Amino acid sequence: MSIPGLTRLRAARVAVAVVVLAVAGSPGLAQTSQDIEAALQAAYAKYKDLKEGKNADYIPALAKVDPQLFGIALVTTDGRVYTVGDVKSEVSIQSISKVFTMAKVMEEQGPEAIAKRIGVDATGMRFNSIVSIEFAQKELGGPEMNALVNPGAITATSMVSGGSRDDIWQKILAFHSDFAGRPLRVDEEVFKSEAATNQRNQAIGQLMYAYEFIKDNPQRAVDIYTEQCAIAVNARDLAVMAATLANAGKNPVTGKQVMKADNVPEVLAVMATAGLYDDSGKWLYRTGLPAKSGVGGGIIAVSPGKFGIAVVSPPLDEAGNSVRAQKAIADISAQLGGNPYEPQAPKLRTSQK
Ligand code: GLN
Repeated sequence: MSIPGLTRLRAARVAVAVVVLAVAGSPGLAQTSQDIEAALQAAYAKYKDLKEGKNADYIPALAKVDPQLFGIALVTTDGRVYTVGDVKSEVSIQSISKVFTMAKVMEEQGPEAIAKRIGVDATGMRFNSIVSIEFAQKELGGPEMNALVNPGAITATSMVSGGSRDDIWQKILAFHSDFAGRPLRVDEEVFKSEAATNQRNQAIGQLMYAYEFIKDNPQRAVDIYTEQCAIAVNARDLAVMAATLANAGKNPVTGKQVMKADNVPEVLAVMATAGLYDDSGKWLYRTGLPAKSGVGGGIIAVSPGKFGIAVVSPPLDEAGNSVRAQKAIADISAQLGGNPYEPQAPKLRTSQK
């Protein structure tokens, strides 16, 4: 039998997917809505009063954000939205934006452009490490970089095409908005605060230019990067963004195909490698989830084919990752069988083995 445009293997996969959909009604998650709600409620109750960690303060505006803010949102790949806590208050997206700007470059130039120009290795160092730039020089034989730490992220921003600063910026903002499913805006106070204090990122931009990762106008790249980090989002927005990645690039709430399904595996791979900075290995070991954190206190995590989840809680640990967000996501994902490396069918269990 020949099906035009489909190999036999793909045809078999499609047939299986159709059968699974018909039986379960929704792809991926075996749990009922009550199970999902219970998992969110339990994590919220468990960590609501946890006081560990500290707001980022190297960007002065971030120190002023209410450390009590705590919201959890989970969006399934069939577009169901579950929330608990404060999922309306906005924080700045910060480093989580790096995922979407990297994805934008892949859309324009293909995933290889990111691998070739920036690299896709974990640096094992802090997100704004300058030493990691030196190590990435071939003759030193250290690890490459990736687009989720500042030097690589500023380079990715410099790779987005556009005739003017405004063209490039509007494209980046629109891409983020499509992922969130609503028009996003910039928190001007955070943007100004970071722009006035980002000398280190300016130095990183110059160094990346000197080493020819950035081809021209490093100041403009740092400026746009700083603005993209100040995009205001709430936990719900972030969960829809994560769910769009879980759903092969199609926003499950708006139905819009935001990015090519073909590029999603590479985006998730870099998130798995480097999404939580120098704690990325520990995170992957515990959860198996591609994820990304930001110093504004948000973390997104993706269970491919199942759900996207996000937590906002500003106090961070030493590595710069939200303390409560890590714990809540790990618990909820374990409850729902979110770990893609888990061989058995999803079952209910706690994260404590
Ligand atoms: N805008 C921040 C910076 O460049 C983002 C860092 C982060 O979220 N880890 O320092």
